[in-house]
Amino acid sequence: MSLTDLSAVELLDRLDARHVTSTEVVQAFLDRIERYDRRIGAFLRVDREAALDQAAAVDRKRQAGEALGRLGGLPVAIKDLLATQGEPTTCASRMLEDFRPPYDATVIARLKAADGVILGKTNMDEFAMGGSTENSAFRLTRNPWDTTRIPGGSSGGSAAAVAAAMAPLSVASDTGGSIRAPASWCGVVGLKPTYGRVSRYGLVAFASSLDQIGPLARTVEDAALLLEVLAGHDPRDSTSVDRPVPNYTSSVGRPLERLRLGIVPELFGDGLDAEVAAAVRVAVDVYRSLGATVQEVSLPHGKYAVATYYIIAPCEASSNLARYDGVHYGYRTDAQKAAARLEAERKALEQAGDRAGLDNLDTALVRMYRQTRSEAFGPEVKRRIMLGTYALSAGYYDAYYLKAMKVRRLVREDFDRAFEQVDLIAGPVTPMPAYPIGEKVNDPLAMYLCDVYTACTNLAGIAGLSIPCGFSSRGLPIGLHLQAPAFEEERLLRGAAMYQRATAWHTRRPSLDGE
Ligand code: GLN
Repeated sequence: MSLTDLSAVELLDRLDARHVTSTEVVQAFLDRIERYDRRIGAFLRVDREAALDQAAAVDRKRQAGEALGRLGGLPVAIKDLLATQGEPTTCASRMLEDFRPPYDATVIARLKAADGVILGKTNMDEFAMGGSTENSAFRLTRNPWDTTRIPGGSSGGSAAAVAAAMAPLSVASDTGGSIRAPASWCGVVGLKPTYGRVSRYGLVAFASSLDQIGPLARTVEDAALLLEVLAGHDPRDSTSVDRPVPNYTSSVGRPLERLRLGIVPELFGDGLDAEVAAAVRVAVDVYRSLGATVQEVSLPHGKYAVATYYIIAPCEASSNLARYDGVHYGYRTDAQKAAARLEAERKALEQAGDRAGLDNLDTALVRMYRQTRSEAFGPEVKRRIMLGTYALSAGYYDAYYLKAMKVRRLVREDFDRAFEQVDLIAGPVTPMPAYPIGEKVNDPLAMYLCDVYTACTNLAGIAGLSIPCGFSSRGLPIGLHLQAPAFEEERLLRGAAMYQRATAWHTRRPSLDGE
């Protein structure tokens, strides 16, 4: 058995017992990245030297008998939308291709303080907008279980890296399902914490009322360990909540007694793949066999989740992305060429005597903004900006954004009512197993509909997790979605761990070429 087969918790035991060094562990993952990532495409950048330097520093501390942080030299892969000081943070966008933030995101500072070793930055959909990682401006990421298929998105690089054992842990973000959907499609564990549980300071904003940072890992215990490091109050993020962080790692092994599990019959209706539905039902039976009582609950407004999400998220995105103007941040068009083209247009209009055209002509500054944004944003980002700008414009605000906010409240109240009766809600994560690369790329609506089960969690601001619960007949992983009330991550992890102990899905590994 090689080091990369071990879970983070198992590696940490060996590190603490000094059976291995952090340098050896980090080297083993770097070797695997070198061997497989050309094919998988999970990483946008790997900084071997920086990782080995960090590992060596942790090894020295351990040797000197100094107290070590919770991660004790474990490597972690980071989604490329978390600010890493002095290192590129691209959001997989041409807009931020050369952007090097002058500071670390709070979660990065926490990882470093916990003696985690940063392996590199992982691929994603541009600005986290997408569900397949096909919207990256830089590269395609392939699903390690079937490299003709998508890994999911937007955190596809993070999920593929963990599934292919190129990293034991990854930190990513989830706005409408971006941790849980790729976790489900790649057969790993992914947790979206409650809104406010983890600081978003230094996370490049997509939809600020929905974005949340969380862990991806191969086991529930590993996710608990990483969440423990990430969670906690941060005065730099006014939405982060000042509540104590439970000791997730010590409680995760305790099963939930008298667990009341909720299932939502309307989620098993149209559009759900039969194999996914069957795997989820069998998972619910596993809970029954563990002593849980299973009860039907209703989320009557769940059917509006996608429509509501695709108003709120683009509205917030259109406002957040206004900052990319070529002046403050990132890419700027060739201003001289833009000015020359503008001048040529002006002359042509003058010659044609087109007064209206001349009146509508950009100023040089506006032309620079326009061209910068046209050149550096990809098509999906532009689509979101247009949708959001439209929905927020005068006369439409009440009909769209305000209405969506009202429906959002109803979605949250549905969950409040359901959680009066049950402790956790179980269901599918995605409507189907991973689909072929290219299948939905020209069909935004089909892509958006994949968020039908996950977007509710973000709208309600509660916690959700995906855990492997089976495989399709083609050998593709299927995820079980568990949702818990706000700030009940401990319950969520304990509930997931009891399922994991009773099943072996999480032990299966994709076989990569040459293995
Ligand atoms: N697929 C969803 C979207 O495209 C969710 C993305 C996310 O959670 N970042 O918006």
